[in-house]
Amino acid sequence: MRLAEDEVEHARSLRLPLLGEPTPHHFGLPCPAHRGGRCSVYTERPRACRSFVCLTLAALEAGDIDNAEADRRVAKLREIADRVRSGLPDEGRSLGLWAAVARFSDEGENADDGDEAWRVRHSAVLLDVLELEHQCRRHFTARGW
Ligand code: SF4
Repeated sequence: MRLAEDEVEHARSLRLPLLGEPTPHHFGLPCPAHRGGRCSVYTERPRACRSFVCLTLAALEAGDIDNAEADRRVAKLREIADRVRSGLPDEGRSLGLWAAVARFSDEGENADDGDEAWRVRHSAVLLDVLELEHQCRRHFTARGW
């Protein structure tokens, strides 16, 4: 998520995972402040969070879907994200999810072609990544993104 320059220190105090040190402009998702199905720093959340209305929230507010459908979409996304995360190497898990995926993908390009087991695992993770991207685009981007 994007951070304005004047929000960086506040985001640091909220322990959001800043990306791009020494001059961060983003924090990584999934957000560690998301706990128990809600934002644990809601009243202090960054401006990008305040202004972000994803397609699912927009549909909920418009009455096009109900809470159960919104919950189902979120649960499905989390399930896929968990699957992706569990397939990544341990050393990548301290990065944001997408940064870890990018590193994992780069490793594939440099991998030993003879390591078949690694290639199979790598392909399975990347298929889950495609599904994750699809679900994000379909239900969780903001209108016009
Ligand atoms: S709204 Fe809260 S939980 Fe969601 S990304 Fe922003 S700070 Fe994190």
